[in-house]
Amino acid sequence: MLDIEKIRSQFPILAMEVYGKPLVYFDNGATTHKPVQVINAVSDAYTNFNSNIHRGVHYLSDISSEKYEGAREAIRQFVNAGKREEIIFTAGTTASINMVAFSFGEKYIGEGDEIIISTIEHHANIVPWQVLCERKKAKLLVIPVFDDGSLDIEAYGKLISDRTRIVAVSHVSNALGTINPVKEIIGIAHSNDIPVLVDGAQGIQHGDVDVNEMNCDFYVFSGHKVYGPTGTGVLYGKEKWLEEMPPYQTGGDMVDKVTFEKTTYSKLPFKFEAGTTNFVGAVGMAAAFNYITGLGIDNIIQREKELLDYSTRRLEEIEGLKIYGTAKDKIPVISFVLEDIHQYDVGMILDKLGIAVRTGSHCAQPIMDRFGIDGTIRASLCFYNTTGEVDALIEGLLKVREMMG
Ligand code: PLP
Repeated sequence: MLDIEKIRSQFPILAMEVYGKPLVYFDNGATTHKPVQVINAVSDAYTNFNSNIHRGVHYLSDISSEKYEGAREAIRQFVNAGKREEIIFTAGTTASINMVAFSFGEKYIGEGDEIIISTIEHHANIVPWQVLCERKKAKLLVIPVFDDGSLDIEAYGKLISDRTRIVAVSHVSNALGTINPVKEIIGIAHSNDIPVLVDGAQGIQHGDVDVNEMNCDFYVFSGHKVYGPTGTGVLYGKEKWLEEMPPYQTGGDMVDKVTFEKTTYSKLPFKFEAGTTNFVGAVGMAAAFNYITGLGIDNIIQREKELLDYSTRRLEEIEGLKIYGTAKDKIPVISFVLEDIHQYDVGMILDKLGIAVRTGSHCAQPIMDRFGIDGTIRASLCFYNTTGEVDALIEGLLKVREMMG
């Protein structure tokens, strides 16, 4: 059991009032708030050991390098990667996917090859592959979804051919909350010797992610969606791929020997970490993982399941409200429309009541097109939210309907 009151007191921003009303923050899918443990870790880094990593022989640089590599080890343990070399620090999910699309694409994709993604991807897991396809004259194939927002796995199997080079799917859909059967997807791909990238931007903070057990080839996520600092993220990649893939960005810190004639590169993981990385952010991200490990990932899963059930039940009570994304396996993300009231109007009225929701296409226009809508209202919850806040949302929506319906 989680002590929610105590947990909420560790997130200073949650005590805030908006327009004189207590803040109800249901935009955790976009970014989560940060506990004092993370804020203090970042502050401590700038106060006590800020110095550029790996390059100095001096005291502060040594400490900073140690903390950075300690953060890498903490994250390796959290996702259960086999080796620290398989954990690359990036600026976030988008940066990680671009890195794989470019680098894997450079090495392994040629004219006529095929890449499989799905209909419920975030634009970050669509556009880099599209750009790669344009560059290499390859083809993008898309796994269809059923009306409940779950992937059509049979259709996926039929998309695989001897030209398929990689499959890239989200662990969890940000727009609908669907948890995809990634192990099954990976199993099918691997039985055809095809690697799989899993976009874990919405997966890592809601479930027990074990990349070893999942057997994915790449797993990517952002620190800011998992209670950590902005501008941080991770690319987990199996060593066998990362060794073969060329560097993405080049410059300082990723090189071994530079002459004007030829440059040789550093070993993993540094080969993919050009320039000054967000070393303070990495320490903050590790603090976030320590924090959720302390809460217990199973406790988080249970708490969020209760919140999902409660909020779904309450929202379904509202006449004229339609939920998009009703698959059996979901995180507490509820995407809905209210009669034919425009989502922006709903979002703006809720905002005046202190309730933060997201409106629009959630950077996932293809899935909105699939449902023939231009957007939804999305309430994305996490463990620090409460059923009382859900009740406030319900009241707010009833008010919106009264005013606009
Ligand atoms: N993938 C998914 C599923 C997401 O939800 C997001 C952000 O919402 C991203 C990728 C992109 O993450 P970032 O903007 O942190 O790079």
